[in-house]
Amino acid sequence: GKEIILNGVDKTYQTRTGNVQALSKVSLTIERSSFVSIVGPSGCGKSTLMNLIAGLDTPSEGTIMMNGEKVTGPTSGNAVVFQKDLLQEWRTILGNVLLPMEIHNITWLHRSGNKTNRARALELLASVGLKGFEDKYPNELSGGMRQRAAICRALIQEPKLLLMDEPFGALDALTREQMMYDLLKIAAEFGFTVLFITHSIEEAVFLSDRVLVMSERPGAIVKDIEIDLEKPRG
Ligand code: ADP
Ligand code: ADP
Repeated sequence: GKEIILNGVDKTYQTRTGNVQALSKVSLTIERSSFVSIVGPSGCGKSTLMNLIAGLDTPSEGTIMMNGEKVTGPTSGNAVVFQKDLLQEWRTILGNVLLPMEIHNITWLHRSGNKTNRARALELLASVGLKGFEDKYPNELSGGMRQRAAICRALIQEPKLLLMDEPFGALDALTREQMMYDLLKIAAEFGFTVLFITHSIEEAVFLSDRVLVMSERPGAIVKDIEIDLEKPRG
């Protein structure tokens, strides 16, 4: 089914030196459980588009609907992963993964098989190779490991939509490749919709069912490509 529908979305930022039109007349439909990448040059509006869909900012014109409801702010069904992992340095890895559950005061046993949040967090950490690292602090881990922890912090919320803004942009090539395989496995397992921003066409084609290509001044989708390659999922 259609999960996300953008209709004539414009975004203009007001700045001290004038207006910047970041997006112009973006209309788009995203199917549930699809993996959609957005590529394009720096400044073409990728992050703006993602922030609008995530409800972190509002369009200047046009509407964004999610599952039939207008997006007016952050939704509990969304989780976002950025290039910077934004881990809290004074919390342990486990504490970081559990943070969204604390913030949203989610105390129920976890939906995935009646597990406590703690048990689920440990299971997620183990699934990305971080077993035994739960009591470490972020600065004791490598960049790749930190980003894996940040992904666990998103996954524990069991999002319907996972939004990722250059999640592997700060990682070296080898780690990035491993992370791409991990992400495919995770996406297949969870079945959520993924919106994935990247600079890398290669990354987009490898991961996605569909690649949206944007161009700048003002930001717009100029190509919409279905990717038919068999994914090495699972
Ligand atoms: P991308 O993610 O593709 O690099 P962005 O969405 O970050 O592009 O930016 C699109 C355009 O909007 C750029 O020209 C950028 O400078 C501008 N822009 C982004 N965020 C803001 C903001 N908060 N205030 C003013 N201009 C912004
Ligand atoms: P990077 O992001 O620096 O390229 P990775 O996340 O790929 O590194 O980590 C490579 C491997 O190195 C990890 O799987 C882990 O086994 C080991 N490693 C990295 N940092 C640490 C650490 N602080 N403590 C223990 N092992 C580590």
